[in-house]
Amino acid sequence: MTLSRAASVALLAEYGLSPKRKFGQNFLFDTNTLSKIVRLCGVGEGDQVIEFGPGLGALTEHLLGVGATVRAVEIDPDLITVLRDRPELASVTVFEADAMKVDLDIVAPPGEGPYDLVANLPYNVATPLVMRVLREAPQIRSLFVMVQLEVAERLGARPGEDAYGSVSARLRYWASATLVGKVPATVFVPAPKVASGLVRIVRLEQPAVDPAIANVETIERVVTMAFGQRRKMLRRSLQSVLCEEDFLAAGVDSSRRPEELDIEAFGALAGRLQ
Ligand code: SAM
Repeated sequence: MTLSRAASVALLAEYGLSPKRKFGQNFLFDTNTLSKIVRLCGVGEGDQVIEFGPGLGALTEHLLGVGATVRAVEIDPDLITVLRDRPELASVTVFEADAMKVDLDIVAPPGEGPYDLVANLPYNVATPLVMRVLREAPQIRSLFVMVQLEVAERLGARPGEDAYGSVSARLRYWASATLVGKVPATVFVPAPKVASGLVRIVRLEQPAVDPAIANVETIERVVTMAFGQRRKMLRRSLQSVLCEEDFLAAGVDSSRRPEELDIEAFGALAGRLQ
């Protein structure tokens, strides 16, 4: 059963709750969108899913419906009460915690993986949450997330595309990412001001840059410096740390701009810095 718009509102009212903006609470009620997410994310019978921010449990129910097991992290104690009261969600392991701080090895025990993360993420912490999972939880092999459309475009962008920026490049150290769908604001209660996007993120078997060439911290430093002056040529934006000889040795043309570089090229530059 899906919580309709009216049922979602009634459930909140039953518990004396209203959506909290500070937790990015926009609840999904549209059956077509929920079915689309579950179909596109590709999880099925026996898969172990991690969900951040289950809210009232609408997406959770659909994930259970295809035979997945779900371990969910919710920050709002009021919603924890709702989730624990709903008999349809009895099989879900619910953690009352901040997904930014919770020990991911407890939520997703490494020896019992792999896991797939599927979530309609709170917009204010969506990007740091994605990066945290990629950095800290290798047992989570894929992420399928709904985020603000602008963020979705950035996460999914490839070199040379308008939306390609610092986070697009840094994500590609760990994973591939593709924007696979758009979702209108009208399928949420309350409706947010902007549309959303669905992004499929699949972890690479090995990081895109060999750690023997450069470590991730140095790569991120170079990426951040370069995109900090996005319109400038790399020879200008990186002049405090790299000289022309470094660009030559790394095989990167210093007159290029950061949006033209893939993560391997940033890795080669970071190798010179290191
Ligand atoms: N999954 C539900 C849905 O699709 O209807 C709710 C999605 S709503 C956009 C975001 C959810 O994340 C809310 O339930 C909110 O309380 C929760 N949340 C916000 N910040 C969080 C955090 N740091 N850790 C865990 N949950 C969080």
